[in-house]
Amino acid sequence: MDGRQLKRTLATHQRIADAFNDPRFPSRGPDTRMLVVTALWVARIERVPAGKQWDRVRDLLRLDLYGLQQMFRQDAPRWEPPPEDGIDYGGSTCEAPMIRRAGLCGHHPCSVAFRVTNPADGTWRMTGFCTRHRAYAVEVDRAERVRCQSGTLPVPAPNTGGLLPCYLGGSLESWAKSYKHARSAWRPPAEGLRADDWPVTAKVVRAASSAPPKLELLAGEGEDATGTDGSPVLRIVRDS
Ligand SMILES: [Zn+2]
Repeated sequence: MDGRQLKRTLATHQRIADAFNDPRFPSRGPDTRMLVVTALWVARIERVPAGKQWDRVRDLLRLDLYGLQQMFRQDAPRWEPPPEDGIDYGGSTCEAPMIRRAGLCGHHPCSVAFRVTNPADGTWRMTGFCTRHRAYAVEVDRAERVRCQSGTLPVPAPNTGGLLPCYLGGSLESWAKSYKHARSAWRPPAEGLRADDWPVTAKVVRAASSAPPKLELLAGEGEDATGTDGSPVLRIVRDS
C-alpha cells in the first residue's frame, strides 16, 4: 500500500467513525447509518466499480430493492415532528374539548388520528380522538384539509434526512430523483438536500464536535500522574 492509498484508507475509516458518532441519524426505522457505513466501505475500501456499488451494498445488508427504497424514503429531506411528540401514536389522548368542564376529553384516541398543521409555521403534529368524539374529529379533519388546499401554508425548514448526500457525495439531481421515487409527495426543500447545509441541524452537530478535547499522556510519576482518587494518567487539555 503506497502513501496515497494509506491516506485514503485512513480518511475512509475516519468518515465511517463520523457516521457512527453522528446524532442526526434516526434511532428508529430503516437503519440509514448502516447504509452509509456499508456504502463507504464498498466504494472506498472494496473499491467496487461505480455501476455495481448499490448491488454490493444490498448484498452485504441483505436488502431487496424495496428495502433500499425504504432507506431512501427514510432519508428524504423533510420536516418532521421530534420523535418524542408521539408521531406514531396519533397523540396520546383524545383532544376534543369538553363542554361541561374545562380541559380535553383525555380518553384513549382509538377512533381516528391525523395530521394537524400549524398555519403560522407549517409544522404539524398528529392528533387523535376517541369514538365518542368522532363528529368533532371530522370537523377538525375538514379544517385541516382546507388549510392544506389553501396553498398558503409555509413549508418548515427540514430537520430530518438529507444525510446520504453528505456522506456519499454524488450528484444532488440523482439524489433528488431517488428521494422522489421513494416518497411520492416529496418536494426538495428550499434549504437544499444536504443536512450539512441546514442551519438548525448543522448547529447541533458542530456544537457536539467542535473543539474536541485533546488527551495528553502524562509521563513520569509526579503529582499529576494519578489523581487523588487514583484516576488514570490522562488529562484533558483544551486549546487556549
Ligand atoms: Zn374523546
